[in-house]
Amino acid sequence: MAQGLGSRDGTPAPVSLPEIPGYELLERLGEGGMGEVFLARQLSLDREVAVKLVRRELLAEEWFLERLEREARLLARLRHPHLVTVHDFLRLPDGTAAVVMELVEGGSLRDRLRASPNGLPLDEALTLIRQVAAALAAAHAEGVIHRDIKPENVLLDAAGQVRVTDFGMALSLAPGAPRLTRTGATLGTPGYLAPEQLSGADTDARTDLFALGVLLYEMLTGRLPLGSFEPPRTVRPEIPAQVDAAILRALKPNPADRPASLVAWQELLDGAVGRPPAPATTAAAFPRRTLLLGGLTAGLGGGLAWYFLRPRNPAATAAKPDDNAWQTLEWPADLAAATVSGSWRREGEAIVSGDAVCLLALANSLPATGELRLQFRRLGGSESVALFFRHPAGFGSAEVDGWSRHRSGVQSIDGRTTQGEDGFDFTAVPGQDHELLLELRPAEVQLRIDRGPTRIYPLQRRQLTVVSPWNWSPDATGPALALGSYQSPTRFERPQWRARATG
Ligand code: ADP
Ligand code: MG
Repeated sequence: MAQGLGSRDGTPAPVSLPEIPGYELLERLGEGGMGEVFLARQLSLDREVAVKLVRRELLAEEWFLERLEREARLLARLRHPHLVTVHDFLRLPDGTAAVVMELVEGGSLRDRLRASPNGLPLDEALTLIRQVAAALAAAHAEGVIHRDIKPENVLLDAAGQVRVTDFGMALSLAPGAPRLTRTGATLGTPGYLAPEQLSGADTDARTDLFALGVLLYEMLTGRLPLGSFEPPRTVRPEIPAQVDAAILRALKPNPADRPASLVAWQELLDGAVGRPPAPATTAAAFPRRTLLLGGLTAGLGGGLAWYFLRPRNPAATAAKPDDNAWQTLEWPADLAAATVSGSWRREGEAIVSGDAVCLLALANSLPATGELRLQFRRLGGSESVALFFRHPAGFGSAEVDGWSRHRSGVQSIDGRTTQGEDGFDFTAVPGQDHELLLELRPAEVQLRIDRGPTRIYPLQRRQLTVVSPWNWSPDATGPALALGSYQSPTRFERPQWRARATG
């Protein structure tokens, strides 16, 4: 085992690491939803490289190793000055795997944004976004959609040039390419996910374009364009009109309203629409194939179901405020469209999750005050079973039996999770029915499991967020409720709602 590891990102390094024959691990560079990345010395060539490993707590699921291998293969196929270069993919003696990549030494765009919380200088933001767009246009030209563009995945080299990384969620549109599982297709990062990713509909080049719009908005304003956001020029008047317009076009909820390709978008950004294309910019080096892809993806996008964005069915609002009887909430009519990740199947009236990280969005719209009742039965695994809910304080979860330590409760509140003192112990007994009661009020929620003690969570001036292992958090257009099971197949009965008298 490697000894004496330092940590560049300030977080404690694990006490031990898998041995990687031929490499000496030196320090930790960072981590994301799936991987941990280390600075390492490649002994044969005596050079420093970056080595990405699957995070230890995710190793139990073979799926993550497959995803890492897919990521390495996809990236290896692509070559572009603004994409990270992959050197190797290694199967390790302990059954795990590693991707060896070029070391990118200038930190991530997230680090750069932290240094300028109100936005980057206009020229810098435009230069960076053009480089990201050029890298993605190269990927698109090869039929690869990135699907997880965000500041953490845009690295900067020592000269400040962009190196896009993390193709862990990428999708290859090449004929015969293995399709990613639905789980991989929909895990993602709050704030940067396009509506079609949230709803589990098909993704294409325009999905990356949406994320580019978010990225440029954030680079220019220091904010994320969530909910009914202000146009960039309102926040920062010196932004040129065509840049403002290009951002708004990229952020259109319906992909059909976005430009068809990154090349077309760059033309908008440059105010070059209607003019002959500029000669050989980096992105324009791929126009023909990108256009082909644009045609293909426009076809793919034709039949999308706009699950969250279409007007909500009034019948789905099951509760009337003056009625205090328990009422059954709507179950999704189309299970596939409601699946955010993992696999879900019907079993009579119940819906049963698979053994991956499973999330199911429920399209009910609910009054602000009332009580939810969810009956569930653990069928396998030993991790969290969760009811996600929207509240004025954010989108959070009531979780049962999590963190491999039977920790339960509402999380996360102001970043605090049930993993620590905020949690209480409750074990979901396999095969046994349990009941979760969640009372929603404007400034607090109350939780009771199996008629045990009522726990009160004050939420005034506090923030609810989905805790990080779920890797998901819907924005304002997302669902009001969702069910989840973390590597724990679970049978869920149809949830119920009643509007309880306040006070
Ligand atoms: P994940 O798939 O888990 O999100 P990433 O590939 O995004 O993993 O890497 C996580 C973090 O590790 C990045 O945000 C960055 O800080 C660091 N990192 C990744 N690749 C490199 C690299 N080639 N050189 C330097 N740092 C890297
Ligand atoms: Mg990442």
